[in-house]
Amino acid sequence: MEAITGLPEEERVADYLSHPVFNTHHSETELLRYMKQLENKDIALTHSMIALGSCTMKLNATAEMIPVTLPGFSRLHPFAPREQWQGYDLMLAELGEWLAELTGFAAVSLQPNAGSQGEYAGLLAIKQYHESRGEGHRRICLIPQSAHGTNFASAVMVAYEVVPVRCDEQGNVDMGHLRECLVTHREKLAACMVTYPSTHGVFETEIRALCEAVHEAGGQVYMDGANMNAQVGLTSPGAIGADVCHLNLHKTFCIPHGGGGPGMGPIGVAAHLASFLPQDPLAEIDEQMQVGPVSAAPFGSGCILTISWAYIAMMGGDGLREATAMAILNANYLAHKLEAYFPVLFKGSEGRVAHECILDLRGFKATAGVEVEDVAKRLIDYGFHAPTMSWPVAGTLMVEPTESESKAELDRFIDAMICIHEEIRKVAEGVWDKADNPLKNAPHTAERVIAESWSQGYTREEAAYPAAWVRLNKYWPPVGRVDNVYGDRNLFCSCVTPSFGKATGE
Ligand SMILES: *Cc1c(COP(=O)(O)O)cnc(C)c1O
Repeated sequence: MEAITGLPEEERVADYLSHPVFNTHHSETELLRYMKQLENKDIALTHSMIALGSCTMKLNATAEMIPVTLPGFSRLHPFAPREQWQGYDLMLAELGEWLAELTGFAAVSLQPNAGSQGEYAGLLAIKQYHESRGEGHRRICLIPQSAHGTNFASAVMVAYEVVPVRCDEQGNVDMGHLRECLVTHREKLAACMVTYPSTHGVFETEIRALCEAVHEAGGQVYMDGANMNAQVGLTSPGAIGADVCHLNLHKTFCIPHGGGGPGMGPIGVAAHLASFLPQDPLAEIDEQMQVGPVSAAPFGSGCILTISWAYIAMMGGDGLREATAMAILNANYLAHKLEAYFPVLFKGSEGRVAHECILDLRGFKATAGVEVEDVAKRLIDYGFHAPTMSWPVAGTLMVEPTESESKAELDRFIDAMICIHEEIRKVAEGVWDKADNPLKNAPHTAERVIAESWSQGYTREEAAYPAAWVRLNKYWPPVGRVDNVYGDRNLFCSCVTPSFGKATGE
């Protein structure tokens, strides 16, 4: 190979791409099979609903995904001259306008790459706003205890001092404590970050009063928009009284995010914050007045914005409103059906939840020795990915069905949960041993179920086919129960062992 001129001529000494995975699959068919084999290990939306609360795992429609692959969107350099991306420009402008309308805000930045980065950008806007008014000493950020961890982290990133606000018994922000904090920190208050509906899955009735009280004390309201799936078309952060809000386009607006990204977290701001949005990384920044960029490209992971554009374009205003209503209806249907088996931890004053609900499993520890993790793992035997576990409350499951799931699928999930409740009852009543039962041993791999010896106090059928409909579409987990805590504390290397690829049977 010809040497590239200008580069120092150095010989590579280390091996590279030496892992067999880079040298094993040489034909399209082989690679396809390898990828399918990886896919088969995963319990995904292609199997069943993934009711991860707060994450909003909704349909990523094929029609929304296709434009990502169009070369006009996927092959453009982020810093190509503007005249070369007029179509993109139009799409970005339209999406920005739609998001401004949906959030009730004056301006939107499409730059942040995640909700957390949106929080960071939004807090920078608030910070610059205070500084521009000679109030740079305002550095205290109130955050309710129930907030997502990223809220606290973002506040620390902009060098704010975090003051946690308590929640009351019903899971709402404790307004009494909030008002106390506002009095104590009045002089130095910069912002209050609040999630609506709250991470407890309830529409807090005091949200407008909260915004007013924060404003009255000279602070700005940052709304965490991760739960926008319960707001779109019905209300908006702007209408409620917030000053800035991020949108997780990979939650509410259909960008797929199983496996960790990439996401997009644009922010919307009220008019007084519009000049403090992130700048183009190549622009000259006036540090006194501007926040600079928050990401290395002007529109973040720009090409995936086509997914959200397509979603909004195809749904239209009425469609979006209906989706929100269905998401709320589905969550309430599920909460209502399961309430007799698993208490719903938080409900609003009318006895309803928002777009998700928290099922309280803590009581089963005393009666049956069953913990939330046992139920999460047992759901895998039924073919379901577990809902969000132990967040925002330890020992609970947070379920968010979204509008994408049909009643039939909701009923199947409800059925699985009721069957599991019956299994817990058997353990509690001593029919099954507290240590040897399908919950404690879940999930059951095929290897384990078909092994020569089976000494469990329940049948193989009870282990692997606990409900009739499981037979139609059985998902086999590739591994059994792992010790989460041990795994978190001990680093494992998945490097190639010397025997890899050799048929040593080791
Ligand atoms: C997901 C989530 C975030 C963070 O968003 P990312 O896009 O994952 O960075 C913040 N707050 C809440 C309530 C969330 O659910």
